[in-house]
Amino acid sequence: MTNTLDPWSSSDITDYSKLFEEFGISPFDEILPEVPSPSTYMRRRVIFGHRDYEQIVEAMRTGAPFSVMDGFMPSGKVHLGHKMVMDQIIWHQQMGASAFVGIADREAFSVRGFSWQKCREIGIDEYILSLIALGFKPDGLIYFQSGCESVKDLAFELGVKVNFSELSAIYGFSGETNLSHMISVATQAADILQPQLEEFGGPKPVVVPVGPDQDPHLRLTRGLAGKMNMFRIEERENTNGWKYFSVRGKGAPKEALQELKKRIPGKVKLYEEHIDVLQTPDYPFLMRLVSEVRKADRKSQYLAEIESVSRFMENTKPPEFAEYEKYFVFRKIWKLTRKILEQIVAEIAAEFGGYAFIPPASTYHRFMSGLQGGKMSSSVPDSYIALTDDPKEGAKKVKRAKTGGRVTLEEQKKLGGIPEECSVFELMLFHLIGDDEELLEIRQECVSGTRMCGSCKQLAAEKMSEFLKDHQEKRELAREHLDEYRIIYKK
Ligand code: SF4
Repeated sequence: MTNTLDPWSSSDITDYSKLFEEFGISPFDEILPEVPSPSTYMRRRVIFGHRDYEQIVEAMRTGAPFSVMDGFMPSGKVHLGHKMVMDQIIWHQQMGASAFVGIADREAFSVRGFSWQKCREIGIDEYILSLIALGFKPDGLIYFQSGCESVKDLAFELGVKVNFSELSAIYGFSGETNLSHMISVATQAADILQPQLEEFGGPKPVVVPVGPDQDPHLRLTRGLAGKMNMFRIEERENTNGWKYFSVRGKGAPKEALQELKKRIPGKVKLYEEHIDVLQTPDYPFLMRLVSEVRKADRKSQYLAEIESVSRFMENTKPPEFAEYEKYFVFRKIWKLTRKILEQIVAEIAAEFGGYAFIPPASTYHRFMSGLQGGKMSSSVPDSYIALTDDPKEGAKKVKRAKTGGRVTLEEQKKLGGIPEECSVFELMLFHLIGDDEELLEIRQECVSGTRMCGSCKQLAAEKMSEFLKDHQEKRELAREHLDEYRIIYKK
């Protein structure tokens, strides 16, 4: 694997564990127990990694606002690989996220050379209809990049913060790369940051579910979020080992820094371009901050958490604190103090026309393999199942798919099959069998040699045909109800 993950090539990423080391992606297993009612893809380890998903879990638990955002390039047929992403958007929407779906027609225009009209037709007929048929709710926003003024303006602003060398380092761009392709990259960063604009309720955690090949967009956007922000909060330590916060505001108006000083109680020192909150956060300081927030009649999304720490402090007498608990409480207070500071900083940034983006979170899912083994390729129709394939044809493709079965029935009975190498099992795991117990049973029968590929394929083919038939009926229904959805088109 090279050091550059290219979202426009179909690079085969086989060693996911390398991503953890090379790109700082954390294993999803670590956070899985914290997720309230994990999705099927999470439970089945299809989602294997994440960045900063803790903030999404916390928002789901506390009821704080958060968003899910994803995009689809309108380039061809909508297939099961797209369904995976759509399922994840819809799951987060059901968990309380405000959902944003961008149809990346600027990307299709610049990379594929498609006309706006063709992008619109593919966008609706393929992607949007399937998204709605799978359960996308009408309160989410769907937009074509070319028609969304806020995304285009933000992309232009973001363009100031990135240069050609940086894009080359991330994407491997060369002197041959056209300017519109570069603009489409800035547009995708704007897509991801858009849910945090004032018109959508301001800064909040946003998750982008992607395959690992899309990670360059996330790394670029996270970097840009920091560069765009009016303030940066740093955690520091003085020579005596006391920890404190410093809010840096290079280029921020002096009045904004003064306002910050005014709103943060306690020992705060104002410098030319930053303020230092000269206090290691303790419980009384946290409460003073909270009362300032309340006095100004501002609501904090963290009040429920603060109340839980407050109850803990009241009910636990100091002598009973074990060392670990003291540490735990300090960590909690430190984290909450940072969040309240972030809230105050975001409000002041908004008042002075600046940004306070939270770096977007992401999850990473395994790719589906091609039905014949190897990679799925849009130029080889037999390697994938489109959501618009005729149900009979879909079933035939399942029957022609590569299995993990042995050469003879005798061998199969003796050695068992290899579900990890079986495209049919993968279809069942990703899409066709909703019940975990049933799937485990199929796996067990396969490896123990009591299940034969012929009947197994027959079952998967029937399920595929049923799914496609049902999905296509729902697509037609979605077509009739399109005007009930918030969709922004190019004018
Ligand atoms: Fe795949 Fe089923 Fe054959 Fe096992 S029995 S290898 S799961 S088709």
